[in-house]
Amino acid sequence: MTRLLIQDPPAKSTEPAKADTILPVVSHPERLRSLDRKAAGTLVIHEIYRSLQGESTFAGLPCIFVRLTACHLRCVYCDTPHAFNQGKPLGIDEIVAQVHALGDQLVEITGGEPLLQPEVFPLMTRLADEGKTVLLETSGALDIGPVDPRVHIILDLKTPGSGEVDANLWSNLALLKPIDELKFVICDREDFDWSISQVRAHSLIGRCPILFGACFGRVSSTELAAWILETRLPIRLQLQQHKILWDPQARGV
Ligand code: SF4
Repeated sequence: MTRLLIQDPPAKSTEPAKADTILPVVSHPERLRSLDRKAAGTLVIHEIYRSLQGESTFAGLPCIFVRLTACHLRCVYCDTPHAFNQGKPLGIDEIVAQVHALGDQLVEITGGEPLLQPEVFPLMTRLADEGKTVLLETSGALDIGPVDPRVHIILDLKTPGSGEVDANLWSNLALLKPIDELKFVICDREDFDWSISQVRAHSLIGRCPILFGACFGRVSSTELAAWILETRLPIRLQLQQHKILWDPQARGV
């Protein structure tokens, strides 16, 4: 794994002046405090590093991860709470330069919740313009409508077991494209049955790949595999490959 340290932003930005950042209105606005002093045109970045993609249909490929700071949700299984607060503001030029320095084709924008920072939209467009394959990992709680259509959106649908089922923005389901992916993290059998009922109720089969992953430490992937087979639905079992390859608590992998 190669990691670039996040550096202080350049003393003088070469980017054009932009309007003030307007953060989305969310429940628990106090969870966005780390974005309070963010200058317009910058993003608060927790870390930028390269590793193997651990999830989605891109699992196993070398990938550059751009992790944005802050999340307004608190899923019970969250494995990136360190990204809730820590980070430094960087301009889009600096982020793109760090991505190019790491060199891989595949780039994932993740968090935290990356869609909390409006500058993420021009960042994704810029990366796509420069020929990168861009993935966006998002909680499903914020509008994906403004996302560049070239971006592969990996959208969570929060299950009851996550503790954040009420945060789901259901209108996002109608916006999914064939290149997007819909992810469910299954905490127990009740979560599984709830997820299957959503797949059926919203006619999601055939819209885009559907991924079911076992909540680490709560359900075994073997058990989840058996449940998926019972349904005879084309649902893909997702293994958290990075937690198999490396210490499950490790950061930056
Ligand atoms: S949405 Fe993601 S980053 Fe936010 S609390 Fe849930 S798992 Fe953690």
